[in-house]
Order: sequence, then structure tokens, then C-alpha cells
Amino acid sequence: MAYFGTNGVRGTFEELPPGLAQRIAQATGLYLAEGAARQGKKGTAKIIVARDCRLTGETYLAAVLAGLSKAGCDAIDIGIASSPTAEYMVKRLGAAGCIIISASHNPPQYNGLKAVDGNGIAISAARGLEIEKLMGRAGNGTGRATRYDNAAADHAAAIKALVDAGKIRKRRPKIIADCGNGTAVFIALPLLRDLGCDVVPLNGQPDGRFPGRPSEPTEANVKELIAAVKSSGADAGIAWDGDGDRVIFVDEKGNYVIGDRVYALSILWKAAGGKLKGDVVTTVATSRAVEDVAKKCGAKVRYTAIGAPALCEGMEGAAMGGEEVGGVIWPELGMAKDGFMTAAKLAEALCEKPLSAWLKDVPAYCNVKLKIGADAKGKKELVARVRAYAEKNRLAHVNVDGVRVNFRDSWVIVRASGTEPYVRVFAEATTEAKAQKLAKEYEKIAKG
Ligand code: MG
Repeated sequence: MAYFGTNGVRGTFEELPPGLAQRIAQATGLYLAEGAARQGKKGTAKIIVARDCRLTGETYLAAVLAGLSKAGCDAIDIGIASSPTAEYMVKRLGAAGCIIISASHNPPQYNGLKAVDGNGIAISAARGLEIEKLMGRAGNGTGRATRYDNAAADHAAAIKALVDAGKIRKRRPKIIADCGNGTAVFIALPLLRDLGCDVVPLNGQPDGRFPGRPSEPTEANVKELIAAVKSSGADAGIAWDGDGDRVIFVDEKGNYVIGDRVYALSILWKAAGGKLKGDVVTTVATSRAVEDVAKKCGAKVRYTAIGAPALCEGMEGAAMGGEEVGGVIWPELGMAKDGFMTAAKLAEALCEKPLSAWLKDVPAYCNVKLKIGADAKGKKELVARVRAYAEKNRLAHVNVDGVRVNFRDSWVIVRASGTEPYVRVFAEATTEAKAQKLAKEYEKIAKG
């Protein structure tokens, strides 16, 4: 049975009972300790453990600590913390990896385990299978568990060192920070205040029931933030997902800035008017706007499969990484998608010009999504038909996750859903009508 999905193990309390979580944590501890030993790290492996605000977090914490102890690993429990904070602490404390108890942006009844190795690379479904082979194997002793209470402050200090806090302090941008009752509360608010922003918190109390808004920062879910930015005359709004790796913006006019445009802006800010050193890495589901902006900054785009593990694994020698839902990797800080570093860069950029003016440098595209019902066999056939079509017609295409066909100012991806009985067709073009036409055309090609 494969427990690991695209990014860790997720489920309701019934689907992921604490006993199972303990066994998975034990096997994960063994796997991460072996990885550290292979790299020549001596002594007992240290594993960082963090959890988000969910109500079952404490229960899973007990299970994970028990599993790690059985594996013979020393656990460092950093308490309730964001995913990027936990991942930053792996590097900072020289740990063999981390286990994050979180279901990211999923509804409150879910929880899960995400694992990241000592190099900061998130554990993929393929590596998850390796971990599952170790389930049932005993460790070589009893590991200790200790607490570390300064993780958010350490992480915030590392971010602060990478932006111009003096400039931000002078301009003092007004930012409405919608923490969505998630772990952003513990780092975003003190970080932005410390940087010198005028911070207005929204949904700023941690609460695993997510009473303020659903945890995923979609446009529909952040209506309150959009209204607050408009009515208060703030420079920008920011909203994170439940574990703080993903972030979206709202400009000073109240326009929602979707995840891949957040990534495109981040590329501009990192290049700071010059050229980027290294490639820009992104998933095959990301807007052409990222490629347009990367080109302007002298960088080539490399596409990976969807999900944090594939993105991390594709980062070698890259200047930046990012995904369509607003997760941006800043390698100078680590291999984590870090919604707080991205927010700090926004604060810095606002000192130069308004967010709406920055957005003028990011081309806007329209997109259309369709889905075709298909069973497992049908999914393969539909995608294969599109691949054969692209090859036969010598179209520029990327094969890493479904088939993405690139045209001069548009593209389309045909991809099997990992969890549902569908093949998805997603087309992007300069107008709604063109995107619609492209999606329909590839729906037809897929169906044969
Ligand atoms: Mg997340």
C-alpha cells in the first residue's frame, strides 16, 4: 500500500490513525538516518518535528515522537511552526531531515505528515515507497526528544538578513496580513513588524478549525482581505495557506494576484534589474508569464512535474524555483517554498513602486480548464494520444508530467489527475476565446 502521495501522507483521523502515523514516522526516521550516515554524518541522527495549528496536531506529535524514538533518532520538537520554518531549521541545526505534521491548505478534518531530507529536498512518492519498505524494521536504540523554542525567531532573522530592512523602515508600507488562522501567525506578523511595515493582521489567531476562511488562499477564500485592502488604503494584502509555504498577494487597488504571478514578481525582485545567475525552475502547470519574465532577466526556464518534491529535485544549479500555486523557493535561504521570504521581498519591492506598477511588467494571460472522465487505463491512453500528436507534428512539448505543448504565446497541458478519475486539459492564451479554442482542440485530440 502506498501511503505517500505527491507531497507526503495525508488523510482524515480515520484514514491516518496515530498508530499508522507512528509506524510511518519510525520508517521515515530510519530512512533519513541512513541518508545522513551515507553523507558521512556521525552520531545519532537529529530529526526536526513541527506541527501546524490543527486540532489533532498534539496527538500526531506524540505518535511521531514515539516512532522516531523507536527508530533511534533524536527528535527536536520545535512546536507549532510553519513548514518553511521547520525546513529552515534542518539546515540551521544540521539535522538529518524533518517531519512536519500538517495538511497544508486542506480542510480542518485532515492532517498529514510531510518529510524533508537533510539536503532540504521534500520526499516524493517514489522515495515514500522506499520508506514504506522500512516499515516494521526496528531501530538501533531509543532516541531522545527535546524541545527547541526559538525556531520562528531564527527563521525570521535569516530572512531579515536577506532584505533591506533599512529601506522598508523608511517607507513603512501598510500591509494587511491574512494569516488564515494558520502557522503564519507565529512568524509573518513579528517578521513584517520587525522589518518596519505597518502591519494589520487578519485572521491572526491560530485556530485549527480555520474559522476565518478556508485554508487555501484562492480568490474566493480571501474576499475579506480584498475588501480590507480596498477600504483601508493599504499598500498590499498578503495571504498564506495553513502551513505558510504558499502565498498570494492583493495589490493596492484590491486586485487578486494569483500564485504564478507571485512567482513571476519574485523573479523580477531577485534579478533586481540585472540578470539572474542560473535557471528558473517551475512546474509544467505554471503560466507563460514566468517564462516571459525569466527571459527578460536572462534566464532559461526548466520545467518539472507538479508538486514540491519534483520541484526541489529539479533545483540543481537554479537561481529560483516556484510553482503555480504561489510557492517560491529562494535558494539563498534553503530549498523550502517560503511564503515569508516572498512576503519580505514584497515589502522591500513596495519601497520602490506600488504593486500594481510592478504587475505591469508581468504579462497577463487567460486560461481555460476542462476535464475528461477516464479510468486508470483511459487516462494513459488519452495522454499518450496527445504525446503522439505532438511528436508527429514536431510541436515543442514537455513530457515530464502529462504533455505540455508550447506555442509562441499560448500553451496547453493534458495531464492525468493523480487522485481523481479525470484527465485535465488546461490551456492558457492571450485571450479567453483563444484559450477556449485551444482547450477544445486538445480535448478532441486526447479523445481521438
Ligand atoms: Mg502548504
